[in-house]
Amino acid sequence: MATVNQTRLKDLLLELVQIDSLSRKERNVAMRLQREIESAGAVCRYDRAGEKVGGNTGNLIGRIAATAPGVAPLLLCAHMDTVVPGEGVKPIVEGDIIRTDGTTVLGGDDKSGCAVICETLHQLKALNIPHGPIDVVFTICEEVGLLGAKHLEVDLFEAREGLVFDSDAPGLLFVRAPGAQSLSFTVKGYEAHAGMAPERGISAIKIAAEAVAAMRLGRVDDETTANLGIIQGGRAVNIVPNEVTIRGEARSRDSGKLTAQVNHMIECFKKAVAKASIAVDGKAIMASFDYSADAQYQAMNIPEDAPIVRKVVEAAKRTGRTVSTAATGGGCDANIFNQRGFTVANLGTGMRDIHTVREWLDIKDMVATSEVTVELLKLHAGQ
Ligand SMILES: [Zn+2]
Repeated sequence: MATVNQTRLKDLLLELVQIDSLSRKERNVAMRLQREIESAGAVCRYDRAGEKVGGNTGNLIGRIAATAPGVAPLLLCAHMDTVVPGEGVKPIVEGDIIRTDGTTVLGGDDKSGCAVICETLHQLKALNIPHGPIDVVFTICEEVGLLGAKHLEVDLFEAREGLVFDSDAPGLLFVRAPGAQSLSFTVKGYEAHAGMAPERGISAIKIAAEAVAAMRLGRVDDETTANLGIIQGGRAVNIVPNEVTIRGEARSRDSGKLTAQVNHMIECFKKAVAKASIAVDGKAIMASFDYSADAQYQAMNIPEDAPIVRKVVEAAKRTGRTVSTAATGGGCDANIFNQRGFTVANLGTGMRDIHTVREWLDIKDMVATSEVTVELLKLHAGQ
């Protein structure tokens, strides 16, 4: 079994986390990663996703040529951007544990994934391990709506199955995740003085309340949830409110159920609004409403017997470790890949307490993930 070069992996991670790379500003880390994977034999190019999202670089795409014949290409992907506060990271090293100084995130989300991929490529080269073609994709703007993956120019590479390295537990392979829609409903009523002429007004708040009271929310079924999280409206306690906006979301691992839930929520507003009308000075006044439903990402649901899933589980066994499949409640680049027809699962790297200034990780977890990945590439090449 290949033994990962722990020092090289740790040094690269420490260097990467100290290169600022907030979303849309990933150029410096992209150039560093390009140098790293070129030294492992990759031929690199960038797509035009950066231009489309207003960033300073596109997605970095690297191809490692096959050293074994007749093997289908595999995709290895991680994202380069980090969340705020993420500039001027000063990592603190305590043995295998790497923390922040408490003023920024660490950016192990997802620089741990980037470093694991680089180390995996170094292993293949250093140990002369025969493997098929590898397409490495380092994406931009994952943290701001999976924009790099959405705009990724997929005809610049061949692989259509593989792994994203972007979650915490190194022993978990996420194969199921919900799709999500963000929702906004604005009810428009009619303003009037609440004390002198309430009958000349239509309360947008009352209509919205009726709509919400009739709505299925929370855990709708075992794979569907819905929430209304923000409500804003009204001007003063003595004015019949003419406008209220309610924002929320719906998620489901089943796309049909997600559509049904969103339609149900829209329908509740429609019905409540239809009942509200008044006549003012002989003129009919009707309530109305607008809504927006924006697909954030579609569900991912990779069968347990998909070749990539079976191979990762088997590769882990060969290294004396266990990787189990799991479902997550969140979304990542893997959702977009699957939505675009790829088969891409999400393997953990050991990042912990992500999106907080307490973020930390254990190099041993990254070592484990890299060893499993090296083994996966061997297995995939029929060894
Ligand atoms: Zn991430």
